[in-house]
Amino acid sequence: MPTTLIRNVRPLHHDATDVLVTDGVIADIATTLTPPAGATVIDGKGSLLFQGLIDGHTHMDKALIGLPWHSTKATTSITEVIANERQLRREEHIDAHQQSTRHAHAAIASGTTHIRSFADIDTEWGLNGVRGLMQTREDLRDKVHIQVVAFPQSGMLIRPGTVELLDQALAEGADVIGGLDPSAIDRDPKGHLDTIFALAEKHDVDVDIHLHEPGELGAFSFDLIAERTRVLGWQGRVTISHAFALGGVDAVRLGGLIDDLLDLKIAIMSHGPSGGRPAPPVDQLRAAGVRMLSGNDGIQDSWGPLNRPEMLLRAYLVCYRNGFRRDDQIEDVIDLITNSSAEVMGIDDYGFAVGKAADMVLIEEENHCAAVVRRPIPWLVMKSGVVTARDGAVV
Ligand SMILES: [Zn+2]
Repeated sequence: MPTTLIRNVRPLHHDATDVLVTDGVIADIATTLTPPAGATVIDGKGSLLFQGLIDGHTHMDKALIGLPWHSTKATTSITEVIANERQLRREEHIDAHQQSTRHAHAAIASGTTHIRSFADIDTEWGLNGVRGLMQTREDLRDKVHIQVVAFPQSGMLIRPGTVELLDQALAEGADVIGGLDPSAIDRDPKGHLDTIFALAEKHDVDVDIHLHEPGELGAFSFDLIAERTRVLGWQGRVTISHAFALGGVDAVRLGGLIDDLLDLKIAIMSHGPSGGRPAPPVDQLRAAGVRMLSGNDGIQDSWGPLNRPEMLLRAYLVCYRNGFRRDDQIEDVIDLITNSSAEVMGIDDYGFAVGKAADMVLIEEENHCAAVVRRPIPWLVMKSGVVTARDGAVV
């Protein structure tokens, strides 16, 4: 049974401590521990200990990491952005397995231990994206936990054949069914959501819906998602990603939506979007007890070049977007990218406690808030007790 003793590390809200890891699991946490015979000893040098970072929303199949610079085209609508993306795939050979592997390596090196990634499925690209990503999930299962979302990025009902492909992807092992703007893209909210929830029931999977729809249109989609969550009994199994509508309705409407989110345990993913568009008020949602996760969204893809596969940077951006400055606010965002995301994704063995998986990130910095702001490269990343990266490079 491989055993590792990590000496002198500083977890969040915890005095400096030693951590004993046996067989991939945290076996003991105490100020001073004696290494068992044969144990490997790692000197933590008083480093910060972060729990494994969680990217709860990204798109690994289409990251352009490692490829020549892609100049983002001018567009006037999300439909045009999606059409450009399909054109890029037609013109360039994008290998989803290769690109998701590159993405995963960069994420691991920056301290990520768990990822929920969407994979595009449409009638041109077929199952290439989701199969490539599932291959990466398998290849790297000892280094990073990947949840694969079967995602109709180009619309579903407007492209006949897409539903059958989603069904096939779930049969082949995709973990979650994704949906997308039921009114704005498919222009048939009832048809779209009934189909998504039927697939969820058939394959017994969670649901994660990209909802960019603004204001009352988006709020109406919330109502329809809530109805179906209740009828199907899918409480605790539905996420609404982006959820821009939560930033675009008045206080009374928002209050009603929050009541539904709490009642039905529907989670919200917010990544602190750029560009000043209305976005979910993270402080208000967290204070109300809404389940939340965060993520990097697409990394260097045809949507734009700015995102990086680094969750501490994402935490910084969520703080920046929401105007968080105080330590307690920054620490709440650290919780968002660790414990809160783990709960939404159903990762039962997650947490800094005896009996939980030893998923840990060591960073030399003054304190955890300073690490979010200054973001030094983790000098050690561990997944289930195995060192996966050192000094920014995957082992
Ligand atoms: Zn997304």
